[in-house]
Amino acid sequence: MNFVQVATWACLECATLYAMAHIAQLLARGRTYSCEFFPPKNEAGWLSLGRTIAELEPLHPDFVSVTYGAGGSTRTRTADLVSWVRRQTPIAPMAHMTCTGHTRAEVRAMLTDYQAEGVENILALGGDPPAHGEPAPEGDYRFSAELVDDLRSFGGFSIGVAAHPELHPRSPDRDSDRHHLAAKLRAADFAITQFFFDIDHYVAMVDDLAALGVTKPIVAGIMPISNLGQVTRMAHMSGAEVPDWVVKAMSKAGDDLDAAERIGIELATELCARLIEAGAPGLHFYTLNRSSATREIFRNLGLNDRLRES
Ligand code: FAD
Repeated sequence: MNFVQVATWACLECATLYAMAHIAQLLARGRTYSCEFFPPKNEAGWLSLGRTIAELEPLHPDFVSVTYGAGGSTRTRTADLVSWVRRQTPIAPMAHMTCTGHTRAEVRAMLTDYQAEGVENILALGGDPPAHGEPAPEGDYRFSAELVDDLRSFGGFSIGVAAHPELHPRSPDRDSDRHHLAAKLRAADFAITQFFFDIDHYVAMVDDLAALGVTKPIVAGIMPISNLGQVTRMAHMSGAEVPDWVVKAMSKAGDDLDAAERIGIELATELCARLIEAGAPGLHFYTLNRSSATREIFRNLGLNDRLRES
């Protein structure tokens, strides 16, 4: 059985249930719960993702997003996965799109294809420069705000942008970070944050933006930790901090992988509960293409029934 067969079997009955898909409208209706996937590199990865989507689908995520390799390295795979979600499940998909290294004509071609597929949500991103001092690829864009403007002119898409509660690693200072974030969010519909573990960073960012007159929804990105080393490396690259109390809690698991996953789920559940209490308009789970932690957190938060009724 291949990916398409596994997933089609899992979602056969949902294909006809697809309805409203603009994330801005979903956020206007109430708090959203959503998941992020990356397009797998090989058949085993696709099969495993098919199972993951089948296991998450009963939780009725409001939308799922699919990452994009900077410079277009996953262009086809991202588009394939986004289109598959759109055609085969009732869940609204959102395509990530990084702009640096792309021409305006390439972006227009991708948007035309997505529109033809009925995809209505794009996360407009800058993208990272190549590692190891390689030259930056040529292209028409420097910053994500330019992609947001092009998306707006193209029309028809609900537009999200990235937000970094602990500041973007290339921002020279807090004022500049918040100024550029406020500017792009004014033109977009909503933001999704980089993951963070201390709610104070999220609350401070929302307050900073409100002080600049921007109150668009800022969906909180949630990373349940199962592998502290892996998450610490990701945090380091994205300008996030793994606080000492998180390291201490995770260290209690020692080499026990199940215990590590359990502790990571407890920490993420607590953060989600506090975010809900603080009024976060949405929770977006970085699943790393696995379902167990997200399912467990939904259960812990008592969300299964509520989502089933929606
Ligand atoms: P930008 O908004 O362009 O900002 C980048 C930096 O430039 C910031 O420091 C900003 O303050 C500064 N800046 C912005 N405008 C100006 C200006 N006019 N003048 C001077 N400075 C300016 N990466 C991927 O490759 N693929 C993905 O799928 C992906 N998904 C992501 C999803 C989320 C939710 C998040 C939070 C990040 C994601 N990333 C992804 C990472 C993202 O591409 C990187 O963080 C990238 O370095 C910056 O993206 P951005 O959209 O914040 O860029």
